[in-house]
Amino acid sequence: MTAKIIDGKAISAAVKEQVRAEIERDKIKAGLAVVIVGDDPASRVYVNNKKKACELCGIQSFEYALPAETTEEQLLELVDTLNADNKVNGILVQLPLPKHLDEKKVIERISPIKDVDAFHETNVGKIMIGNYAFLPCTPAGCMELIHSTGVEVAGKECVVIGRSNIVGKPMAMLLLHENGTVTICHSKTRDLPEVCRRADILIAAVGKPNFVTADMVKPGAVVIDVGINRLENGKLCGDVKFDEVSEKAGFITPVPGGVGPMTIAMLMRNTVTAAKIQAK
Ligand code: NDP
Repeated sequence: MTAKIIDGKAISAAVKEQVRAEIERDKIKAGLAVVIVGDDPASRVYVNNKKKACELCGIQSFEYALPAETTEEQLLELVDTLNADNKVNGILVQLPLPKHLDEKKVIERISPIKDVDAFHETNVGKIMIGNYAFLPCTPAGCMELIHSTGVEVAGKECVVIGRSNIVGKPMAMLLLHENGTVTICHSKTRDLPEVCRRADILIAAVGKPNFVTADMVKPGAVVIDVGINRLENGKLCGDVKFDEVSEKAGFITPVPGGVGPMTIAMLMRNTVTAAKIQAK
């Protein structure tokens, strides 16, 4: 069997086009502030891609590139200013922050209605109870990719490898909201291959290149690879050993070109949602 490739680029382009058309049709004024502290090259790439997506969708973007030695007080002051600025509907602080800054404290300072990453405790709680305005971008993007396959989540065995607050846990919650039977795995899980082989839908969010091998995959499964790992040769690769798993799975996302572009598309959608909520 050869898996169908889930084309994250095409699906993300369609989401961005929906967002663009909605902004144009309803004459929505939406603005996204992106704050980057320091000069981490990967973060710089992400921020540039977010700016490009804003341009494409007709969202005004405001970039704040702060030096690595910015103090916590200065950063919190900027967040306060952006919270109070009517032109800014969404605030995104690019993570990771330099070590001397407390990420949790900074995220908690963002007004929950402008927290388009949905990392604020208020938004995390809302996702838990299924009453939310925004979904965290990466898990929401994964759900779009799963929907694109036509495979129903309801009743399926879903296995998520990884339990981080930004990917694994919310991913599991979204699958549960759609009535999947969800197992969350982590570094202490016993016999991981055996658990993974049960999955009709397998999500890898581990951060280890080629971690998921064909023997861990049920024939015909939907395999979503969240991992973004940079190899020594500079190439990007996911958490899934693509060559062998694509021979066994039913559907698979590539890296790059799978989950990555979806994350940005969902950020655009969240920014428009934020603008609409704030306009009310
Ligand atoms: P974290 O490092 O926060 O979490 C990794 C998770 O993997 C942990 O829960 C950890 O378990 C688990 N894990 C590690 N080793 C094993 C193992 N041997 N067996 C089972 N589980 C294991 O990473 P993130 O969730 O932040 O990110 C995961 C990946 O997704 C990264 O490659 C990251 O770059 C990528 N990413 C991609 C995005 C995109 O837009 N495509 C967005 C965000 C992240 P434990 O909790 O026990 O330590």
